[in-house]
Amino acid sequence: MDPKIAKLKEMIETSENTVFFGGAGVSTESGIPDFRSTSGLYNQQYDHPPETIISHSFFISNAAEFYRFYKAKMVCLEAKPNAAHLKLAELESEGKLKAVVTQNIDNLHQMAGSRNVFELHGSVFRNFCMRCGKAHTAEYIMEHEGIPKCGCGGTIKPDVVLYEEPLDQDVIKGAVQAIRDADVLIVGGTSLVVYPAAGLIEYYRGNKLILINKTVLPQESRAALVIHGKIGEVMSQI
Ligand code: NAD
Repeated sequence: MDPKIAKLKEMIETSENTVFFGGAGVSTESGIPDFRSTSGLYNQQYDHPPETIISHSFFISNAAEFYRFYKAKMVCLEAKPNAAHLKLAELESEGKLKAVVTQNIDNLHQMAGSRNVFELHGSVFRNFCMRCGKAHTAEYIMEHEGIPKCGCGGTIKPDVVLYEEPLDQDVIKGAVQAIRDADVLIVGGTSLVVYPAAGLIEYYRGNKLILINKTVLPQESRAALVIHGKIGEVMSQI
């Protein structure tokens, strides 16, 4: 076994409280593109930059264009959990992993069996009418041409945190507590540039920070262990 993988395994096995903090890179091996990889959405061409399209003001002023992008690029109902999601769920069921804090909106951690998941940016699987509050499924959103409307005539909005919108206070509170209590914090598949989410790792007080990413991150000097590779491939080896 690669010495770094062996070290990762040992750190998790000897930990009382491991927490995982992840981002879009955790789901690329499930076929969902991330934002900042070379094949990510930020390197594809649209009429507006993705940050603009998935912002609150753009949703309010141009819901049709928002939904065109959102349905084509951000919702992938066929995606299945990969080896990283499955290993994290297994570690939780063994009592080794206490929480998953994710920036992803794809529900793949829950599909894999993880229970204590803090979804910082919401989920494409929850959608509410802005007029009457009625809940709608992701399938309902995808089946409707153009802007999905509720039976009452109201526009439906995904329960996803758009740019310019605040994070849910209860979710932040839970995530901060989990990170603060962790003795091992594994940070994987995130570029750590989207705030305030990325700032949550500042609450970690331990000295066993592990970074797993395909590319180099500026935060590496703070980590006890850095593994460059695909997170599904890495996690499947422990
Ligand atoms: P990001 O696109 O900014 O960064 C992804 C990082 O993961 C990059 O550093 C990349 O090198 C790395 N990466 C990609 N594939 C990997 C793999 N297989 N193994 C290891 N590392 C890998 O993503 P972010 O930091 O999460 O921030 C972007 C925002 O994008 C988040 O707010 C999130 O809500 C949103 N988003 C979510 C999804 C999803 O739900 N699956 C998809 C795209 C974007």
